[in-house]
Amino acid sequence: MEIIAKAASPEKHKAAVLALSVTEGKLGAAAQLVDKAAGGHLSAILKLGDLDAKSGSSVLLHKVAGVAAERVLLVSTGKTDKEFRDAARAAVRAATAAGGELALAFEGRDAAWAAEEIAVAAFDASYKFDATKSKKDDKPGLKKVTVLVAKADEAAAAVGVAAGAALGSAINLGKDLGNLPPNFCTPTHLANTAKDIAKQFGMKVEVLERADVEKLGMGSFVSVAKGSTEPLKFIVLKHEGGKKGDKPVVLVGKGITFDSGGISLKPGEGMDEMKYDMMGAGSVIATMHAVGAMKLPLNVYAVVASCENMPAGNASKPGDVVTTMNGLTVEILNTDAEGRLILCDALTYAERFEPAAVVDVATLTGACVIALGHHVTGLYANKEELGRELVAAGEAAGDRAWQMPMFDEYQEQLKSNFADLANIGGRPGGSVTAACFLSRFAKKYDWAHLDIAGTAWKSGAAKGATGRPVPLLTQFLRARAAAVAGSKPAAKVAPAKAAAKPVTKAVAKPAAKAAVKPVAKVETKAAAKPAAKPAAKPAGKKK
Ligand SMILES: [Zn+2]
Repeated sequence: MEIIAKAASPEKHKAAVLALSVTEGKLGAAAQLVDKAAGGHLSAILKLGDLDAKSGSSVLLHKVAGVAAERVLLVSTGKTDKEFRDAARAAVRAATAAGGELALAFEGRDAAWAAEEIAVAAFDASYKFDATKSKKDDKPGLKKVTVLVAKADEAAAAVGVAAGAALGSAINLGKDLGNLPPNFCTPTHLANTAKDIAKQFGMKVEVLERADVEKLGMGSFVSVAKGSTEPLKFIVLKHEGGKKGDKPVVLVGKGITFDSGGISLKPGEGMDEMKYDMMGAGSVIATMHAVGAMKLPLNVYAVVASCENMPAGNASKPGDVVTTMNGLTVEILNTDAEGRLILCDALTYAERFEPAAVVDVATLTGACVIALGHHVTGLYANKEELGRELVAAGEAAGDRAWQMPMFDEYQEQLKSNFADLANIGGRPGGSVTAACFLSRFAKKYDWAHLDIAGTAWKSGAAKGATGRPVPLLTQFLRARAAAVAGSKPAAKVAPAKAAAKPVTKAVAKPAAKAAVKPVAKVETKAAAKPAAKPAAKPAGKKK
């Protein structure tokens, strides 16, 4: 799919579908031009009351006289960011059936911002996963999306489109990694994907094997991996877009490519969804794809600990005590609380980078889903400013997180009679005590933890990976890059709500401008090859 921004008269632009925004029942300037060319047909339709005012509602008109496009799609949109996104997604979905080119003239917003959101929506709404189906979906689908803008906005919109394509293709890579079955998306596949990203964007990559991490003393990580016949991988991917010597932001991802629970075996129903237990790693790796495509002027490292959690004769048993890389001993009371056992060693490893900040991302606890449901990510931080920064990034990106408490009292629940700490703290506040566990290994730097157990995938009929929190992480890094460029401390964003707006604006321009080329041609198809090779080709790879 090709996405471009273009200055053209909407009524004269040839396309399969011309989508026009209708805000609070009123046609915008572009829609009025089309209405005039069509002899008042659009305003007549609005008078009939066929278009619901709810954002994303639409009416499709065929062969409108006086208009070059084959179809005109009127789409309701409100004034909030979310309403705009909903409307853009609805337009893409409605136009996908028609195939060919979708042209959009959506108004009332900053041109670069709107173009970026439309590009992201185009990737999101046209995503499909057929890598492991014998019959591919061969419907033509959308070939091209053209964002129609005024001449004065053309350059800004092109920058927005390029940023949106970079983010949209990264989100889809995240979805591909999550959706790939666990016999394809193995630790080796994650490592290969990281290698491909390194090659494509000129990053450094290092993949440590079991012997390497044993030598480093990662007894806790190895204890999780040892029941599986799939080799573990410890992946370090480095984007050095900032100044030499600038402290990096380190993203740490939990990459359990299948979580059976181990000896503390999970119930069988819904266990297939445990393939998504690598989405911390998946979203971190996908974010690095966006960072590379945007050429962010910032040092960003990704650290991923990846393995399977399986029951076996040599698997960890409840009651086992293991020694972590930083020397603390842990009593494994439940082998299904394995995420923290691999993350703790990855967090200790991150110390060597003297990071500016570390953000770990993990589908960590069912308790987080009980606390917050599927709408927002659970956020914990040992530094108030970092927490606020991430909340603001989530607000701006439409990928929200909610900060949870991490008071000292909770630490009491991790006491063990036989080790320095236990790997679970009982049912009360299970998401909090998981974060408290991690905090013991993150004392040497500013650290935040995102529990994405509720937001990384959907169950039911729409079962699949969401690509979250790639938008949040990318926005966080773009804001950091913009802050570094403007030599303003990123932390001075004060209350989250108020900060959300300025952060986006400040970011969209400088960060993106330095970055990406105006026209973005991106292949969205998942490139996984089902049958042949055990380690599928990296999905959603740019070609
Ligand atoms: Zn588990």
